[in-house]
Amino acid sequence: MLFEKIAAYYDRLESISSRLEMIDVLTEMLKETSEDDIREAIYMTQGVLGPPFAGIEIGIAEKLTEQAIERASGYKVSEIDANFKKTGDLGTSAGQFAEKSKLKRMSSNKFTVKETFDILLKIAVTSGSGSQDSKIRMMSELIASSSPNGAKYIVRFAMGTLRLGVGDATILEALSKAFTDDRKFKTELENAYNICSDLGEVGYILAKKGKKGIDGIKISLFKPIRPALAERLSTGEEILEKMHGKCSVESKYDGMRAQLHVDKKKGKVQIYSRRLENTTEMFPDICEAALREIDADSVILEGEIIAYDEVANIFLPFQETAQRRRKHEISAKAQSLPVYMFSFDLMYLNGHDYMEKEYSQRRMKLEEILKKGKMLRLADRKVVDSAKDLEKYFVNAIDEGLEGVVAKGLNSKYIAGARKFSWIKLKRSYRNELSDTLDLVIVGYYLGKGSREEFKFGGILCATYNDRKDVFETVTRIGTGFTEKLLEELREILSKIRTTGKPARVVSNVEPDFWVEPRYVVTVRADEITKSPTHTCGWNKHEDGTQYGYALRFPRIVSNGIREDKGAEEANTSHEVAEMYKLQKKTKLS
Ligand code: ATP
Repeated sequence: MLFEKIAAYYDRLESISSRLEMIDVLTEMLKETSEDDIREAIYMTQGVLGPPFAGIEIGIAEKLTEQAIERASGYKVSEIDANFKKTGDLGTSAGQFAEKSKLKRMSSNKFTVKETFDILLKIAVTSGSGSQDSKIRMMSELIASSSPNGAKYIVRFAMGTLRLGVGDATILEALSKAFTDDRKFKTELENAYNICSDLGEVGYILAKKGKKGIDGIKISLFKPIRPALAERLSTGEEILEKMHGKCSVESKYDGMRAQLHVDKKKGKVQIYSRRLENTTEMFPDICEAALREIDADSVILEGEIIAYDEVANIFLPFQETAQRRRKHEISAKAQSLPVYMFSFDLMYLNGHDYMEKEYSQRRMKLEEILKKGKMLRLADRKVVDSAKDLEKYFVNAIDEGLEGVVAKGLNSKYIAGARKFSWIKLKRSYRNELSDTLDLVIVGYYLGKGSREEFKFGGILCATYNDRKDVFETVTRIGTGFTEKLLEELREILSKIRTTGKPARVVSNVEPDFWVEPRYVVTVRADEITKSPTHTCGWNKHEDGTQYGYALRFPRIVSNGIREDKGAEEANTSHEVAEMYKLQKKTKLS
């Protein structure tokens, strides 16, 4: 399929205001896409050059793209730059210059989706001497050979500003509609996606081999699994009741989640983050230790990497562990700030899938293969059958400076990509008035008055993720708690992701001054969750017959910046806020 055609679909997607319509347009698009193009069509619609673990950044600077437009259109960079300042979007400018191009367009040489994708990939990976010129040449060729609409989307994609607002769940639903007539098949597709984390691959296999092909997608080394997530409750009693009277309770370490893939024969180790980004380079010490300490040929295991001061016997705060993110300091930090990995689950061992096995079995094997572990240790745990013992374990964990505990069902499977009651977390903060902080996604912002006017910034509109409907629902407007640094950061990043109207997957009754693509997550604390006649978070007809949503009272930002380890769909869900509201009511009554 020609890229032009996809660009025409993107144009339609942009003007849509409901998620259902979005699914219909995507379904039509996927049906029309040939097998040869579908993998790339999916990646491009996601705005990426591959799955997250491939770690390929779209790499061409604004200035080079302007030069590419110059070559493709015959207009000067100064004219293009002036136009860009006016439109605020280099894609729109590229479209306009393609339209009025002074040069003969190469329209006989149009590229397919796959060809376009491959050139963009080449632009991304080209480096070294002379690479800038090659990048400009390839980009100008792409622009010159496409229609003005195609040029607009090629440039937006390359700039990382393709804001179609399409989420993974939306694509899965559209794939299911396009290639099967079975509505329930979406669940199978989700399962396949949860174990390979590659939407392009899932789409390609479905288009090529149908349902049977999807059955054949199995857990494999160096393809990260989407992580299992924990529900939350606020007392040992509630947890034990949910766990039918007995469970394992583990220390909850506040470091960085890590999924470790090891193939000893090849001497290969890769580490993936909670968002499935490849973080191997951050932890050379853990990689070496994995080859040395794990007693198995091949393994996928999961744990928390955390800086730990062995002399003082204390776990260091998350911020200390996160210093490993700074690339230039890694080797120095590996010396001065050693990290340990506390492993808590095993998903694959010596060629066998362990996700279907019961927790007790997985844990037993984990203990066997980590016997020699020094840097790779086991998460501490205890099997309990009384609320008193669970609470005691929890109090000890807090005394040791940990965040809390995670209770695990003894017979439970590893449930990839979902928040289920087979894992239940109990955190220190749940004992305060409002249980826990909330991670919320920014969906809009307001212009400022008074002292902040120079920043032209007056607060943000935040939303929860409704994972059942795959939409974002507003829960609060926040105007306080910003440090000057965060304010600067927000002003800078939010102005780049403005959308022309409300994004299709945002459900809101309030209107900020500017809507933004739901992308950035911040941590927020509030005094209380209240019922709201306005906000759409958890909007429902409730037991008392009235309709309301939830809002936050006195919300303030507590994170120093954007939570880089979480994407929009990993914000707290509307369902969780509803549960927290119930918890809070209970605490007040008791
Ligand atoms: P939080 O901010 O509370 O860590 P989260 O949304 O990142 O929440 P959850 O799935 O809700 O993630 O909580 C479990 C998290 O706790 C995991 O992501 C993991 O990083 C961390 N963790 C620490 N120790 C354990 C453990 N023993 N078992 C499972 N998860 C653990």
